[in-house]
Amino acid sequence: MDGGKAPAHELVIVPEGMIADLLTRRAAFDAVEQVFAAMASGAAVNFPVVREALGHEDALYGFKGGFDAAGGVLGLKAGGYWPHNLERRGIINHQSTVFLFDPDSGRVRAMVGGNLLTALRTAAASSVSIKHLARPDAKVLGMVGAGHQATFQLRAALETRTFEKVIGWNYHPEMLPTLAHVAEAAGVPFEAVELPELAEADVIITITSSFAPSLMAAHVSPGTHLACMGTDTKGKQEVEATLLARATVFTDEVAQSVSIGEAQHAVAAGLITAGAVTPVGAVINGAHPGRTSRDEITLFDGTGVGLQDLAVAAAIVEEAVARGMATIVPL
Ligand code: NAD
Repeated sequence: MDGGKAPAHELVIVPEGMIADLLTRRAAFDAVEQVFAAMASGAAVNFPVVREALGHEDALYGFKGGFDAAGGVLGLKAGGYWPHNLERRGIINHQSTVFLFDPDSGRVRAMVGGNLLTALRTAAASSVSIKHLARPDAKVLGMVGAGHQATFQLRAALETRTFEKVIGWNYHPEMLPTLAHVAEAAGVPFEAVELPELAEADVIITITSSFAPSLMAAHVSPGTHLACMGTDTKGKQEVEATLLARATVFTDEVAQSVSIGEAQHAVAAGLITAGAVTPVGAVINGAHPGRTSRDEITLFDGTGVGLQDLAVAAAIVEEAVARGMATIVPL
């Protein structure tokens, strides 16, 4: 990808409403897998995240940026969380937009709606981890969480491996039917369970906004692959910290994993060090063996990085230009 293959003197605009038509889960998966590999080899770098309380509308606003020299993609995602949007404006609370720049000249290249893109790139990240780290014979998928992101996570996971059953737990059990609906639409039976029954799962995705662990070490069987996707902020926590000491821990970006990801708690408690956390891209590149035994617990700490957004936005721009669906403005 080269940031969309539009001429350097034009700005490509792809609004939010077009993303669903332009971005397939397959394209998101490929873009994320590729950029994780580039990050691990040092060819792509995420910049420090800026996140500020605006003191207006109780909003949190920030930037996630990076440069992928291998893919020729430079840019940032700007946006955040406006908690009153739904009630006051009838639009979703998470709002973001991706901006891409020509890495040779710094000229702006594209502006891409970032809301659906974020959900699809987050789901792609856990799926990439499942592809590279779950046991080949994994049959039961466990879900912890049933909010907005959970349905995207579940759909993507069901397309990554052939699961025979989905089991799910949620803090608010009344939300579980949304997961049942997604699983059954994919032809896979769904069962609501209590946390200890997650021991039956071969793969578990956690995607909650919790600040205290739900999934404890005793709920996880040897050989399980965990994709912990909900913890992306200091203080959030989904799984018991001792689980990270029992597991081989992988992540998208080590610096984020140990500061704002699930690993922050195990590191703070002295249970593991940052050196024990491996970028999943190293497995994709063949520099790390990944899972080495049937009984090993693997844990992917997905914190969400700007380069994921940029990689997927670049794929969207390319598709929009190729299909004549982009708005193109001369600079
Ligand atoms: P949501 O508000 O739609 O759903 C929240 C989920 O958390 C629900 O399942 C809810 O029942 C559960 N929950 C709430 N309080 C809980 C508690 N005390 N204990 C256990 N579970 C609880 O949110 P969402 O949009 O689905 O996002 C879920 C999480 O994923 C958030 O923390 C969000 O910041 C994070 N996220 C991460 C990435 C990433 O790249 N890693 C990307 C997007 C979102």
